[in-house]
Amino acid sequence: MNIDRVRKELQESALREFPNPERVGCPDAETLAGMSRRIIQMTQDQLHHVTHCSPCFQTFLAIRQEMRQRRVMRIRIAAAACAAVLVLGAIIYWTGTVRPTPPVQIASVTTPATLDLRPLTENRGVEQGRTNAPKPPLILPRKHLRLTLYFPVGADEGQYALQLLDGQLRTLLKEHVTATLQDHIVTAVAELDLSSLSPGLHTLAIRKNGDEWRTYSVVLQ
Ligand SMILES: [Zn+2]
Repeated sequence: MNIDRVRKELQESALREFPNPERVGCPDAETLAGMSRRIIQMTQDQLHHVTHCSPCFQTFLAIRQEMRQRRVMRIRIAAAACAAVLVLGAIIYWTGTVRPTPPVQIASVTTPATLDLRPLTENRGVEQGRTNAPKPPLILPRKHLRLTLYFPVGADEGQYALQLLDGQLRTLLKEHVTATLQDHIVTAVAELDLSSLSPGLHTLAIRKNGDEWRTYSVVLQ
């Protein structure tokens, strides 16, 4: 006979053998609950009473049982919380390492480029014959550009219209830019998306409002 069975037998006999309908010598409910919960230290006499009074012993066992169940519930909740944290961690780990990163928004990325028009003599007008005047062509990559323009010496600050023309002088792009003096150079910045244009010789036309067009040969690569 193992110790648990002995204890169970004793418990059952205590519950059965000591009926105390008059509740003679019973502690009040609060004291009994406190002793059952081990909040109140049980004296030797109280221990003797509880183990020799079936109603008190029943209450004692019921409170102990309830505490055990609460403890089990707390452990289960804690275990579930741990499991949830582990699952969450696994999800974060998995999504962070296996899931591909979102593609880079290429359209919003601009490539910086500079056109220095200062050493160039521009063509006056956009007549076809005159755009082919010999001068080193400017080269621009066919990308979405953030283009910084250095205007020729003597150019004024202010609003400029900017156009990119193809070999047949058809307008491909139009832009309005504001030129301001920066470090003694009249400078403007234009955002030009050249990514969908054909490679080859083009013409960049720039005109201050109310003035005539100045054109520059530009090779798109
Ligand atoms: Zn009692």
